Order: sequence, then structure tokens, then C-alpha cells
Amino acid sequence: MHDRRWPTYANREVMLEGAADEDPRGSLRVRDGEGRVFLDAIGGIGCTPLGHAHPAWRAAVDRQLGRLVSVANTFWTQPQQQLATRLTDLFCVPHARVFFCNSGTEATEAAIKLVLRATGRDTIIAFDGAFHGRSLGAVSLTANPHYRAPYVTTPEDGEASRFASARVLRLPFDDVDALRDAFRRHGPSIAAVFVEPVQGESGIFPCSRAFLCEAREQCDRHGSLLGLDEIQSGSGRTGRWSAWQSIVGDEIQPDLLWLAKALGGGFPIGACLATESLAEHMSPGSHGSTFGGNPVACAAGVATLRIMEEEGLLECAAAQLPALRALAEATPLAGVAEIRGVGAMIGIQIGQRSEKAGNQVARHLAESGILVTVCGGHTIRLLFPYRVGHAELETVWQAIGAALVTRG
Ligand code: PLP
Repeated sequence: MHDRRWPTYANREVMLEGAADEDPRGSLRVRDGEGRVFLDAIGGIGCTPLGHAHPAWRAAVDRQLGRLVSVANTFWTQPQQQLATRLTDLFCVPHARVFFCNSGTEATEAAIKLVLRATGRDTIIAFDGAFHGRSLGAVSLTANPHYRAPYVTTPEDGEASRFASARVLRLPFDDVDALRDAFRRHGPSIAAVFVEPVQGESGIFPCSRAFLCEAREQCDRHGSLLGLDEIQSGSGRTGRWSAWQSIVGDEIQPDLLWLAKALGGGFPIGACLATESLAEHMSPGSHGSTFGGNPVACAAGVATLRIMEEEGLLECAAAQLPALRALAEATPLAGVAEIRGVGAMIGIQIGQRSEKAGNQVARHLAESGILVTVCGGHTIRLLFPYRVGHAELETVWQAIGAALVTRG
């Protein structure tokens, strides 16, 4: 069949139709039009933490669809205020206020505007391997030139790149010394450090606690802001509401943090949380989004967080990586170089550092009824629904083993 979409996505040529099971805890499987069933190990690239068609989530969305679908953001709605309150209670940004949008990229964009306005400075530190989105602001912070060129100029080594009125200073990831050095040299111009506590797109790389603590300390010392892109790692995926909490704990906090993906349980929504004093730098017209904070999306978000709590899903998410490691220890696979991640954000690096190797394994898995994607070229990315346990992980592990044997 001819794909009528822009050719912006690698095409696995599978036409998905619906959830495969009617399960009160959400379906872990999807089916295509020909009746083939797939274990969804990528979960909409991290957007279906409850699985597919979770009945309680659907009921909440249906209820809101029947009440009110869209309003101008000059008016309040209950789902919006409820979700903002829940986010403020659960996440690690003290006394947060929330800007709602529709995607991860837009959440990054809101964060960029906020830190530039709040500090009056022009430089944002971002890291090698970072992925912050694809709008022109967000893609300027993204590291991979494959995404950035030809929209944003690639700087000479050591130089900052520019976008709009800002500069991006790119540093090696998880490198405490490079961070200290950048603050020593550029401190007064640094508006913010933007970091994914667990990098997703580059291959699932968690930051060390030492690095995140150093980032907090340097920002405090130089009057800069610490912003966390938790679009992929947040909303419970690592076993805490934010990956920051999984890695650093609760004693120190970021100034702002942004979410998307899992937050809506599959419904499009993004949110940027900032401390009250920071948020006050914005004023009517300084930013906005017609659909941002849509009542149906917010009701989906409220239901998602409630179900995660009621069903103990964060604890389940936390257990995924240890369960996979135990499987790998019991049945090692020669072609797997490393398993990385936190909780339900897992990367399985295929031995040969080649994109072809990763894609071959992913294609083989799809043929065996398992959906995954590849990140960082040669790493199989698992972003399962949170309740997934030993059985599904074992299915994936065995299928990777078979794929590696087939590939030779
Ligand atoms: N930031 C991170 C860490 C992401 O993982 C992504 C998406 O993969 C984005 C930003 C962009 O989000 P979206 O695709 O919803 O615009």
C-alpha cells in the first residue's frame, strides 16, 4: 500500500487497528486488520503506560467528551485545574504552576521562553545526545545533526549555536568537569541547563546522581535555572513520578520540569511545570496554545495519574529493569552488549554498533509479533506499559535471542 503521509517516519508497513484483548487492566497487545496480534513493547513510544483501551481511562475520557470538549483558555475548566493540582502535588517542582500544551516539543518550547524571560540571559546549556523536540527552538537544543540540519546551523567545535535570541552551548553528557568549566567561563550568560535525567532518543542513558547534583549546585551558584526534560522519562516511567526523583531523591529539586508522552495515557498532552516565582515572569500573551489544556486531554491526564496510583503501577514500572536483568543473567545473549535504563525505560544495546543491526532485530521482532523501536542506532528501546512483568519481558528476551541467531 502507498503511504499517503509525508515520508517522515521509517515504515514498518503494519496497519494497526485496535487493542487485541479486553482486559480490565488495559491491553498489552494490539492487532492489525489481518488478525495478527502484536505485543506492544514500545507503547506508542512511551505514550500508553496503562496499555490500550484501559476501561477506567476510557470511561473518564468518554465522560468528558459528553460534557465539554474545548474552551478558550481565558476560561477555567475543572479537568485543567484538577490536573494542574495533581501535578503540583506529585512532582518535584515546589509550588508549581503549569503551562499546558499538546506535545513534548511544545513543552520544551514553553520552557525555553520561560527561562529566557525569567533570567534575561541568552544561553542554554544542552548535552551531546540530547533530544528535546523538533520545532525550531526545541530542535536547536537537540544534539543529533540528523534532526537539526538544515534548520539550525551546526557550530564549530566548542562554539555555541544561535536560534532566535538565544545561544545553545553543547556539552558532553554526564560530565561534571565539563559542566563546571562551562559555568566558570560563561556563568553570567547562562540562563539554564536543560537535561534529560535519562536520555531516550540517544540510546537510553541515565545521568549519574553526581552530575545532576552538580548541575543543581552550579545553577544555584550562578543564578541559572535547572530544567528537566522528562517528556519520556517522567509520569511514573522510572518508578517515581519523575526520573529526577528516581536518581537524585527528594531533597533537592529542579526549577522547572516538562512532561508529555505517558501523561495523557495515550491522549496528546504536554505540560511544563515551573515554580510559582518563575511562572510569574509570564504574562497574558507571552505564550499560549489554543488546544493546550484541552478539557478532554486533561481529563485523560487526571484519569491516567489516578489509575497509576490505584493500581500500584509505579512499583510495577520500577520492577521491570531488575526483572530483565535477572532474565539476562539467567540466559545471557552473546549479541547483547549492554542493558541500560531505569524502571520501565529500557535500552538493550545490540553488540555491533550499527544502525542496520538494530533495525534488523526490530524487524525480526515485528515478524515474531513484538513491536519495538530502535534508538541511538543500535539499541532496542522498550517502553512497555507499566504493569508488564516477567512473562512479557521473557517473551521479548527470547525473541531477541532468536533474532540474533537468525542474523548470525
Ligand atoms: N523530549 C524528549 C526527551 C523526547 O523523548 C521527545 C520525544 O520523543 C520530545 C522531547 C519531543 O516530544 P514530541 O514528539 O511529543 O514533540
